[in-house]
Amino acid sequence: MAECTYQKTLSQLVDDVKKYTKFGRVADYIPALGEADPDALSVAIYKGNGSCIAAGCIEEKFTLQSISKVLTLALAIMDRGEEYVFSRVGMEPTGDPFNSIAKLESNSPSKPLNPMINAGALAVTNMIIGRNTNEKLERILALIHEMTSNTDIGYCNRVAHSEFETAFLNRSLCYFMKQHKVIEGDIEELLDLYTKQCAILVNCHDLSKIGYVIANEGRIPQTGKQVIPQHIVRIVNTFMVTCGMYNSSGEFAIRVGIPAKSGVSGGIMGSVPRGMGIGIYGPALDERGNSYAGMKLLESLSIKYDLSIF
Ligand code: GLU
Repeated sequence: MAECTYQKTLSQLVDDVKKYTKFGRVADYIPALGEADPDALSVAIYKGNGSCIAAGCIEEKFTLQSISKVLTLALAIMDRGEEYVFSRVGMEPTGDPFNSIAKLESNSPSKPLNPMINAGALAVTNMIIGRNTNEKLERILALIHEMTSNTDIGYCNRVAHSEFETAFLNRSLCYFMKQHKVIEGDIEELLDLYTKQCAILVNCHDLSKIGYVIANEGRIPQTGKQVIPQHIVRIVNTFMVTCGMYNSSGEFAIRVGIPAKSGVSGGIMGSVPRGMGIGIYGPALDERGNSYAGMKLLESLSIKYDLSIF
């Protein structure tokens, strides 16, 4: 389809689902996230050929939140190897909310069920190699800079600080896991790194490019450089399918069928294998923490362009 027809269709789809922003609520358990505009909705689609089609306020920046978990998982497996990572974090969907502590206690041994829930993501961040928090954060950012070809990407100190000050539940997950030797080291340092990784600032265009590299089996489209080994991309892609959309992942797989990861800031990253990267921002969330209108938009896109992998 010609680029401009494609662009027109995308703008139309955004107009059609915009009404759903009214049904959602902006997350405010991290106080700084509560300031987002609930009516915002934007999308970018990148197909690796340099051009990007987009609709909505594409320049608007937002924090990655849980979407960062995909990238830290890839980095931790590159750093430590598959066997080490999955000796401490499981591979199973939970059906529980992202911040649930329940299965940590009932699961034996006491390791988090998967790397996409908070407990698992905290354990994964704990595995990233570096001499200190700064160096570890720089390594996460360096991977994102390569994937987006945008070295301006940094993190929002205000959002990171706001989460750090109120991360009581994440602190308790960490202390529980420390007791059970799933994680090691200083918990406050780990939370400092985790809240900064979650506060990395992107726009939809950046997000679509990250999604594209995953869709492209870990290679940068322009140079062909393999930034994430293929077998690791396969693992993160599978987690996106089975646990990427919180406890809506099953329904999402049926209705949309695109490997994706969402975050409580309202971002959703989609990766259509060997096809396209999708970046969406819509901060009004449904009751499970996914962008309300963003989910509707992905569903429409999937139906319109037959994007389901199933
Ligand atoms: N920083 C958020 C938290 O740990 C990320 C949650 C999310 O986006 O699901 O609560």
